[in-house]
Amino acid sequence: MIHCELLVVGAGAAGISAAVSAWKAGCHSILLADRAVQPGGILPQCLHEGFGIATFGKELTGPEYAAKLSESLQRTDILYYPETEVLSIAHEKTAVISRRGALDQVGFEKLLLATGSREKTIGALPIAGTRPAGIFTAGQAQERINLLHQDLGQNILILGSGDLGMIIARRFTLEGKHVIAVLEQNAHYSGMARNYHRCIEACRIPIRFRTTVTEVHGTGRICGVTIRNLETGEREQIPCDTLIIAVGLIPERELVRGLGDPDWLYSVGNCRQIYDIVDSAVAEAEQITRKALSL
Ligand SMILES: Cc1cc2nc3c(=O)[nH]c(=O)nc-3n(C[C@H](O)[C@H](O)[C@H](O)COP(=O)(O)OP(=O)(O)OC[C@H]3O[C@@H](n4cnc5c(N)ncnc54)[C@H](O)[C@@H]3O)c2cc1C
Repeated sequence: MIHCELLVVGAGAAGISAAVSAWKAGCHSILLADRAVQPGGILPQCLHEGFGIATFGKELTGPEYAAKLSESLQRTDILYYPETEVLSIAHEKTAVISRRGALDQVGFEKLLLATGSREKTIGALPIAGTRPAGIFTAGQAQERINLLHQDLGQNILILGSGDLGMIIARRFTLEGKHVIAVLEQNAHYSGMARNYHRCIEACRIPIRFRTTVTEVHGTGRICGVTIRNLETGEREQIPCDTLIIAVGLIPERELVRGLGDPDWLYSVGNCRQIYDIVDSAVAEAEQITRKALSL
């Protein structure tokens, strides 16, 4: 069994910042665990610029921001375990971890949950029809294109005009794909204005407001969808070979479900609330960490 004063679960922007600020505040018994191979959470797959304006005064890409976090981690002696999944957390202030194929137990005094978020999938939406190949969430698509260099399809329809939807629409366009349209149920795009200008306007991607997908068609591979105008009720069939679901993120809190609200547990970053701007997630993670340590 491993013992530490502070266990931080998740080495994304929030987890690393929390661990480093705890270390700077004098807590030198910290274990930072993440199931991923590299630190940074969602950041390494976000190749676009737009990170770090408040913190660094200039726009960085996701990997550049992750590299800065990584450097700050390396300047400490925090015990960092990559490829380590935290499987469960118990009231007795112990956690079960799986590290490179072996199970172990960690005893801790305080725990900072920094497990990020997960995406809403098509299963969460009232969409009829089949569930063939060719349907991805925006984050999955981003990871497959940017990190795994996969070719996901040619004629792309995107559901949702939040930041994820707009950024992935531009990514597909830069890959030479045909983005048929971004569909948005509201009367206005839901992401940041700068992403609308840089992604939708600059790439001349059609956006259809007050419109949603009601049915998926295809066996084996998706061949089209039915869309509906929410004002007129008018339906239309649109052929496509790829459908991207970009309808939002949900804080990832499975690990602490059923634990209640013990005084040793704190949450930072997207598992606490969804942050559109990484600088805000980091600033608040540092603040919460200071509070956690002063108790
Ligand atoms: C597509 C996209 C584009 C964005 N664009 C911008 C932008 O342009 N500018 C900007 O400022 N912000 C942007 N953001 C927001 C910003 O990236 C996030 O707010 C921030 O990175 C969230 O950090 P986090 O540490 O909370 O979560 P994450 O980065 O998701 O990190 C969570 C970590 O927890 C780990 N984990 C989860 N469960 C476990 C477990 N059981 N055991 C071990 N490890 C676990 C995961 O592997 C992951 O590494 C964007 C976000 C997304 C999704």
